[in-house]
Amino acid sequence: MDCIANISTPYGTGAISIVRMSGQDCLKIALNFFLSKNEKGEFLTNKNIIPRYMYLGELKGEHFREQCLMVYFKGPKSFTGEDMVEFQIHGGEFLTEEVLNECLKHGARLSENGEFSKRAFLNGKFSLDQAEGIIDIIEATSRAEIKAGFELLNGELFKKIEIMQNSLTEILAKLEVTIDYPEYDDEKTELNEAKEVVQQVENNIFELLKNSEHGQVIKSGINVAIVGKPNVGKSSLLNAVLGSERAIVTDVAGTTRDTIKETILYNGVKINFIDTAGLRESGDKVEKIGIERTKETIKQSDIVVFLIDASEELNEEDFSIYKKIQELNPIVVLNKKDIKKIKKIPIIPNIEISSKTKEGISELIEEIYRRTIVEKIDSSTMILTNKRHIEALKEAKKQAEKTIKILDEASVDIAVFEIKKIWSLLGKITGVSENEKIIDEIFSRFCLGK
Ligand code: GDP
Repeated sequence: MDCIANISTPYGTGAISIVRMSGQDCLKIALNFFLSKNEKGEFLTNKNIIPRYMYLGELKGEHFREQCLMVYFKGPKSFTGEDMVEFQIHGGEFLTEEVLNECLKHGARLSENGEFSKRAFLNGKFSLDQAEGIIDIIEATSRAEIKAGFELLNGELFKKIEIMQNSLTEILAKLEVTIDYPEYDDEKTELNEAKEVVQQVENNIFELLKNSEHGQVIKSGINVAIVGKPNVGKSSLLNAVLGSERAIVTDVAGTTRDTIKETILYNGVKINFIDTAGLRESGDKVEKIGIERTKETIKQSDIVVFLIDASEELNEEDFSIYKKIQELNPIVVLNKKDIKKIKKIPIIPNIEISSKTKEGISELIEEIYRRTIVEKIDSSTMILTNKRHIEALKEAKKQAEKTIKILDEASVDIAVFEIKKIWSLLGKITGVSENEKIIDEIFSRFCLGK
């Protein structure tokens, strides 16, 4: 393919910038303005250059000179699978652009978003889901996301899809034989076997989807709604958790009118604490809006922390809030344990804390993690975080279920037709059977020079 070029490092000033090219004649283009000598003291040419060897040399641009490093990768042993050249230069914005300009001036074309990666995909370097793993790793803001992205890049999903597709291919071949040579084969036996295979595929998809509803937790973090009547210490808890005074703390009831969200990282997972406005019945217009927001926050949260105050007897307001959230199985937290303790607590707390002294805070975080991650997510199976993969798997599962139902009565022709559909739906994930539109859509999410 034609030679493309771009800057592969972030825009701005840094220690090093990388400009790379991929495609036909990229080495020829580079040697027009990069001068270096090999170990024998001979000038570097396309004949004597050693691939994957780093050469120190001089870049001779129209308006500049620069000492830099260059590596030549001979296809297919390169990221894109094509011939590639990579310049490592001093990381100035202007200089980097000048180097790119030299590449363009000598025949390269400016690459589009993700075009390097798209070429790698088209050359079979990785599958679509693996490419998406790269995007996930780049965009990750927590260890859990990097892990999920790496699993994709490492081909964990690809391998599972491939196994399912292979078993379908095998049975399709057998069924096709019965169509071509009906006199030799027993249709019924093959159809029974097909049913078993499709059932197995359906089970495998079920296993993969098992964790999918928790994928979002890995991506956007665990959402924790902190709920309780005014003055129980919701803002203080948020501050204690963060270790910094970022929410407004005051003695006047009803000051936390809006929701405030703050995020911490725990065991590599993001936990978003959302301080709510409370659920107190109110005539105040602004407070009413806050109450609506609280209800919305609770609806969207993965877990609710219900705060009660150890320094005073529980009252109607506590009970009325508790009634509203009871069925969500909240973590009941008794705050202000540093002050005197009330004698009778009708709502039994799970944890006792003091937002003031920070006593019990780490136990609370651990409990949140235990209830949302440890108890809900099966860590022995892969966690799918990509909506496109989940949707495609759901479609494939539906098609598998439909196929199982009709296989008892179906003709071999129909069986082949329906099983091929499952195969294609699975292929959507890896790109083995996908059309260009989806492929373009995925690679356009990459940045330039990637
Ligand atoms: P909110 O209305 O539920 O957000 O409550 P605040 O966080 O604004 O706290 C109300 C009052 O209780 C403030 O004066 C806090 O300093 C105080 N407070 C909060 N948590 C504790 C605690 O654990 N111990 C003590 N002694 N005071 C606390």
